[in-house]
Amino acid sequence: MEPENKSEAKALKEKLFLKREHMAKVGGDELVDRAASFADGYMSFMSNYKTEREITTFFKEQAEAAGYTEFDKSKTYKAGDRVYRVNRGKDIMLCVFGKKSAAEGVKIAASHIDSPRFDLKPNPLYESEELALFKTHYYGGIKKYQWTTVPMSLHGVIIKEDGTKVTVRIGEDEGNPQFVITDLLPHLGREQMKRDSAQVVRGEECNILVGSMPFKDDQESELVKLNILKILNEKYGIVEKDFQTAELEVVPAYKAVDIGLDRSMIGAYGHDDKVCAYPAAISNFDVKDPEYTCVTVLTDKEEIGSDGNTGLHSSYFKYFIEDLAENAGAEGRDVLTRSKCLSADVTAAFDPTFPDVMDKYNCTYLNKGVGVCKYTGAGGKYDTSDCSAEFFGEVRRILDEKNVIWQTGELGKVDAGGGGTVAKYVAELNVDVIDIGVPVLSMHAPFEVVSKLDLYSAYQAFYEFFMAD
Ligand code: MN
Ligand code: MN
Repeated sequence: MEPENKSEAKALKEKLFLKREHMAKVGGDELVDRAASFADGYMSFMSNYKTEREITTFFKEQAEAAGYTEFDKSKTYKAGDRVYRVNRGKDIMLCVFGKKSAAEGVKIAASHIDSPRFDLKPNPLYESEELALFKTHYYGGIKKYQWTTVPMSLHGVIIKEDGTKVTVRIGEDEGNPQFVITDLLPHLGREQMKRDSAQVVRGEECNILVGSMPFKDDQESELVKLNILKILNEKYGIVEKDFQTAELEVVPAYKAVDIGLDRSMIGAYGHDDKVCAYPAAISNFDVKDPEYTCVTVLTDKEEIGSDGNTGLHSSYFKYFIEDLAENAGAEGRDVLTRSKCLSADVTAAFDPTFPDVMDKYNCTYLNKGVGVCKYTGAGGKYDTSDCSAEFFGEVRRILDEKNVIWQTGELGKVDAGGGGTVAKYVAELNVDVIDIGVPVLSMHAPFEVVSKLDLYSAYQAFYEFFMAD
């Protein structure tokens, strides 16, 4: 009797229990190979494009090569036409017109292309004891101590007095110099190590080392600073005052690499949220003859609250949808009300080294597929859009029908902390929206880790969402 009972239980378990399986066990070598080849493209992208401006430019060029043209609301578009719009060089919207009119609502994938980093202060350059440094202002939520002694590169733009724009990118190419935030040696770190961990390295201690060589043999003061300005003047034609009308960002200089002897993971700077932005853009390029108009929006400023006219809390995205609506002879608010959105942003993966912050029944794991989360936020579900069961059900059916492996979870334990996404700003437009994204280890560190399988699952999810009837 006993073996029969066991198999009955086994059969019943198979019918009733939720399965959370490793993607490789479900999809086998074929899926692993497809994921690895998709990851190759992603890693090359991650090694070369690091800031919202660079990523916007990259996808604009990719879009143009794929037949997208700049959206012109006076033109008439037909099913299959592809358009894009760039907002202030820091956001890009990619759009493929569906067989149905945009008046029926559009499918949206929204993701952010800014990542935690250090911005230069308006008057960054100073000299102390014949070392030249840049003062910085950190951008986004970071554990500052993680960012010291990391090789860094400098990116951004400088607007000169005559209005001309200089684009800066130093530290990424072979042979370029790089930069670093120094830290105290342990031998003299006794007092520092007694500080509260948020204070181990303070904001005002995040200074970037940029030089140590004085200008010639001269009796003037600040000759190292002078020499740095001379180098910058020769290279870019700038003077010190031009820093005030610049946006210069300091980010880790290294390239994306395979992690693990089995090469199953990717280590890189800025997976949050390029690991969602990249598949959200590529899936837009890949859709063919969709029923609904498909829009990917890659946005700036999520890491600092989505405020400002390049963040998703501004109207730039709403205006784009309104223009699509007008073009289709519909009201913007009607199109938005009928629209559906995947808010594509990373989630925290379970880390066996730090299990205490997670509810192991309700967190996401590496290699178990893209995480679909009903809500994010903090505390008693503050600062989030809690997706309806109806819309989650619709997304679930799309993913399950197409065999996209996915999992669900919360960011961590209820009282452990929390975090938000752009979902609530999309929901504010009366769009149905759900959070979805790739689980990340060491989120917001200068070097984050994701799984290649989860990245591919995200791509599949966005693609199938776009293509669903
Ligand atoms: Mn994010
Ligand atoms: Mn983030």
